[in-house]
Amino acid sequence: MTTKSKKTKTAKKTKTAKKANKVGKSDKQTLGFQAEVKQLLHLMIHSLYSNKEIFLRELISNASDAADKLRFAGISEPDLLENNPELEIRVDFDRDAGTITVTDNGIGMSRDEVVEQLGTIARSGTAEFLNRLSGDQRQDAALIGEFGVGFYSSFIVADRVEVYSRRAGLASTEGVHWESDGEGEFTVAPIEIADRGTRVLLHLRKDEREFADPYRLRTLIRKYSDHIAFPVKMPVEQVAEEQEGKDQVKQDEDETVNAAMALWTRPRTEISEDEYKEFYKHLSHDFNDPIVWGHNKVEGKREYTSLIYIPPKAPFDLWNREAPRGLKLYVQRVFIMDDADQFLPLYLRFVRGVVDSNDLSLNVSRELLQQDANVEAIRTALTKRVVDMLSKLAKDEPEKYQSFWDEFGRVLKEGPAEDFANREKLAKLFRFSTTHTDSENQDQSLADYIGRKADGQEKIYYIASDSFNAAKSSPHLEIFREKGIEVVLFGDPIDEWFIGHLGEYEGLQFRDITRGELDLPDLKAEESNRNRDQQAEEHKELLERLQKELDGKVAEVRVTERLTDSPACLVLGEFDMGAQMRRLMEASGQAVPPALPIFELNPDHPLIRRLADESDAQRFEDLARVLFDQASLAEGRQPEDPGAFVQRLNRLLLDLSG
Ligand code: ADP
Ligand code: MG
Repeated sequence: MTTKSKKTKTAKKTKTAKKANKVGKSDKQTLGFQAEVKQLLHLMIHSLYSNKEIFLRELISNASDAADKLRFAGISEPDLLENNPELEIRVDFDRDAGTITVTDNGIGMSRDEVVEQLGTIARSGTAEFLNRLSGDQRQDAALIGEFGVGFYSSFIVADRVEVYSRRAGLASTEGVHWESDGEGEFTVAPIEIADRGTRVLLHLRKDEREFADPYRLRTLIRKYSDHIAFPVKMPVEQVAEEQEGKDQVKQDEDETVNAAMALWTRPRTEISEDEYKEFYKHLSHDFNDPIVWGHNKVEGKREYTSLIYIPPKAPFDLWNREAPRGLKLYVQRVFIMDDADQFLPLYLRFVRGVVDSNDLSLNVSRELLQQDANVEAIRTALTKRVVDMLSKLAKDEPEKYQSFWDEFGRVLKEGPAEDFANREKLAKLFRFSTTHTDSENQDQSLADYIGRKADGQEKIYYIASDSFNAAKSSPHLEIFREKGIEVVLFGDPIDEWFIGHLGEYEGLQFRDITRGELDLPDLKAEESNRNRDQQAEEHKELLERLQKELDGKVAEVRVTERLTDSPACLVLGEFDMGAQMRRLMEASGQAVPPALPIFELNPDHPLIRRLADESDAQRFEDLARVLFDQASLAEGRQPEDPGAFVQRLNRLLLDLSG
């Protein structure tokens, strides 16, 4: 029998396995892991080998979460604490048996919870995530780290894992025993357990027995779990006893191995870089160090502490609307909820951290958070703090900032639309590709651009295509390249929308070079404006013929000032919707008003001259249409009728060779 739990849409574990596995109480049952769990277990054991010691951090982290949850539940239901309100975590070992035990007296799990939490991964996008793994150990280790391996990391060092758990508030007969060798199945059986909470018992693999050692365990706890807010206890070292040859020396005593104080409550000056980094890993389940962090205590009218981090990598589900995001919320050091997303705007959803408020009620709910003036004030302050932190990073450590931009730039671009107040600061944070470097690396700032602007230039010129390559080779750039005027190259589908919200920078408007009249800085414009009218007069006949030929497809046919190498290009009307916006709107099912492009010709181009001289009606038509469709292609668009385009082109090619 296998669990029939389906993948749930929400990020939280839900009780999908419940119905499928409901059985009589005394039964011991063998169940199958969800397919994704099997896959993850297999990959993890192989790729995380060099990080295997993290299993302890993960188990202690879970124990700490369980203690947090119980303390929170105890606010409204004090009975859950069962006369034992001292929350703690224990780590024990048995060198001879080769076992390690991690015990907590936190919230515990019911039978259904055990089956669900330890048998499935309910995080949405898991299957896609697993598909991205390559089989290359080193690459996959980093990816799995991003995903967060949690409880299953036990199987890196253990070939058998047992869990004993009893949910707070349930009878001692409602305990549950879970066991698995991590190969695909697990068993669950009812068992009597007097104390609430969870005990995880690892049977270490033969070659991992070195972990069952007091010195090793202490070192790991201090290294990874010092910041855990609950005491992590171990039996006092028996070494002393053996050495001194005395009986019963301190054998039954415990000592607290970690600092047992929530990290953010400690003064900044007393926290080491490593402690900050470890705390980040605990929060985020990330294996890598954060790029930067900020720790602040606010006192006065409102009192709260925040500790926020910028991760080094985008999580796999950054673009998943339902992915969990937000900060961990504490009220007066009591954990209230994960993923409190009211404390930061959506465009900063990659920020990880903790906020601990003294002003909110312990009974605060997600709904209440939405209307709380304290929350609003903290959100405004935290937003500013993150933006300032990024600004400082950009200034002081441009390389680190660049790595941040490469991961999160696209999210940050949502900023101007969402956060008008910080628009100017954000504008300084954006990075672009431009014709100055012609490189796909987005590493130029608006300040860089403005520093290079031409005499008399009062606009920021840009082109927005659906890819960097389409932008970079657009014919519209020809005149700008010739005149040495830099153009920003946008290649993200959201860029046109983004620019619409950004509007301007330091008084310079953004100007789309593919629309309206060519708009060059004054001095340069003079040169190129010179004989436009004269040209139009000169090519009047061709323009009229084309206008007739392309009737219904173009708003106007005119002589270009934009092109130096290409025969023709398409220009948007000054107020027409751009191609990107059009596609975005069409994709979201909205009606878009039709708009015909202006067809601009380069009369000096041999193909245009040939067109002007063409007397054969069919060939004129073929060449005119091919040139028109080509101009579409150069914008990254499809010809209206690709089949007809190919036929015409082939006819012309045959003519050539014939
Ligand atoms: P995560 O901690 O990211 O949720 P884990 O794989 O570490 O993922 O744990 C899976 C789930 O198992 C937890 O969310 C929790 O519900 C449950 N769990 C694990 N360990 C414990 C524990 N010691 N006490 C209570 N529940 C636990
Ligand atoms: Mg965990």
